[in-house]
Amino acid sequence: MPYLECLGAQANAWAPMFALAAALLLARLAVFSPRLRRVGDHAPGIVDIGTLVRRGRYRGIRVHTGLLGRSGGGGFLRGRGRGEIWLRSDLFQRSDVDALAILEHERGHAERDLPIPRYARRAIGALIVAGLGTALFRRDLASPATVVALTAYGLSALALLRDEVAASEYALRELWTRDLPSPVWRQALTRLGAALGIYLADAAFGAAAMAAIASALVCR
Ligand SMILES: [Zn+2]
Repeated sequence: MPYLECLGAQANAWAPMFALAAALLLARLAVFSPRLRRVGDHAPGIVDIGTLVRRGRYRGIRVHTGLLGRSGGGGFLRGRGRGEIWLRSDLFQRSDVDALAILEHERGHAERDLPIPRYARRAIGALIVAGLGTALFRRDLASPATVVALTAYGLSALALLRDEVAASEYALRELWTRDLPSPVWRQALTRLGAALGIYLADAAFGAAAMAAIASALVCR
């Protein structure tokens, strides 16, 4: 099949995913990112996040200050033990529902993440590289090799999204126990929803990019 005709057929086959990725990226720019930049209302009963963190820990998990992770203001590092929460330093002085949602979400990672062993994570990364490399150098194996790479990427994206959903579910349960007024509760929901939307958009963009690379390799 001529190159361009083959690319056209591939683009057709992947069209639903390209459309989904484009829609999510648009939502990321127009809705999710602007929401994450906004600061919600004061959460009743909270003096500030620094007061909640006692002796450097929040419910038993160590909390550090520093810029780590994503633009959201927090990150979670699963090292040895139960892991560490990292918060941007300005969060410690805040008492709004967004800051509280960030803290509870990161705390949720300690509670809910499915710990994938390091060797398994490396194996998935190796499968992506090996799949694309094989497709690049062995034209006759391009089709199965790109399927392997795409499947490995899909698995790693699903594992990441699963942990994000689970951590946000934990955060919502904890926020619910604080009996927040309805408008503040809604802000917590949109905050966590927008953060999840960003992860979804990035995963979909990655998948679309992988599909485009795979198509180019298969059609050579
Ligand atoms: Zn997270």
